Amino acid sequence: MAEAKKHGFATRAIHDGQAPDELTGAVNVPIYLTSTYQQEEIGRNKGYEYARLTNPTRDALEESLCSLEGGTSAHAFASGMAAITAMCTMMKMGDHVVCSDNVYGGTARMFDKVMANYGLTFTYVDTSEAEKVAAAIRPETKLVHIETPTNPMMGITDIRAVADICHAHGVELSVDNTFLSPYLQQPIALGADIVMHSTTKFLNGHSDGLGGVLVCTKPEQAERFRFVQKCTGGILSPFESYLLLRGVKTLAVRMKQHDANGRAVANFLNGHRAVKRVFYPGLAEHPQHELAKRQQSGFGSMLSMDLGTLERANLFAKSLGLCYLAESLGGVETLICHPASMTHAAIGAEGRARLGITDGLIRVSVGIEDVEDIVADLGQALARLG
Ligand SMILES: *Cc1c(COP(=O)(O)O)cnc(C)c1O
Repeated sequence: MAEAKKHGFATRAIHDGQAPDELTGAVNVPIYLTSTYQQEEIGRNKGYEYARLTNPTRDALEESLCSLEGGTSAHAFASGMAAITAMCTMMKMGDHVVCSDNVYGGTARMFDKVMANYGLTFTYVDTSEAEKVAAAIRPETKLVHIETPTNPMMGITDIRAVADICHAHGVELSVDNTFLSPYLQQPIALGADIVMHSTTKFLNGHSDGLGGVLVCTKPEQAERFRFVQKCTGGILSPFESYLLLRGVKTLAVRMKQHDANGRAVANFLNGHRAVKRVFYPGLAEHPQHELAKRQQSGFGSMLSMDLGTLERANLFAKSLGLCYLAESLGGVETLICHPASMTHAAIGAEGRARLGITDGLIRVSVGIEDVEDIVADLGQALARLG
């Protein structure tokens, strides 16, 4: 039978994995609050045995996210960090990982302070220069892990170029797609072997639940991560799976608005006399603007700006009304953060200097409020800086 033509992204976000309930016709996936399942006789059940292995709400979510990223299986975990930790179990003592040097702070912390104790080694390179990835690969390299755009400097890595390098060396490529979501970037179509998300951010979209996912492309990965879910148990709960299913239904419309608001706010900040520099891939002066245009279908709503000093950054942060100073990103509300003291405190002053993270740097996750209101709030706070 010919395969039905794949629906568009917004349609899949609403329907894939989320068919009406067979028992009642309920149009939303039920939250199966059960830890176990009755078995009909010894050795016979309905495909469910124990909720650490499988739960129908989580199954639905995994099918949905698999469809949106264009993978062959998806595996949901209790947080983004739990997903990356599970990914590390594809390696064994002595294996080596090449990682973006501007990677999410928690990822580098877990690699260096947890995984290094188990005999894995890590090399951090600026993956926006693909040849640096090639130079860092060794015979024992198993995985290249990249993030694009990076947090908080918004550097872009050429996913296809890095995927080609990886595959020429028999190495797998994982891409942390948290900052753009599958609506704006499709790493698997560009050659990635695994896509990872902190679903806590844009996929959930409402700042009300943690989660993480690995989307895979190969049967052996599916088998491995299903086994890891069962063995280590860091799985996503039925309730949080439901929240995510609900969030994903509006992903397309939210991302359209995030993208539009992100561009408008970047243009407002760029050239503002209180702002030294704006980092946003959508600006023509961003060093990888052309690459971002080519490999993404939008620029998203994450940007950073340099306000010069810690004092100026703090005066700006405490003068905001509508926008909140908070960790995290990707929700409907505009959040700002101070990377030097929040997300990137753990890497130390030297590490921050190497990455260009100054004490005056502010990161903005532009929400989907009326953009005039966001701009007005940022503008009145900037006006205090003189
Ligand atoms: C937040 C984040 C993570 C970690 O995810 P949690 O859900 O907080 O565990 C990983 N990568 C990126 C890019 C993130 O923003």
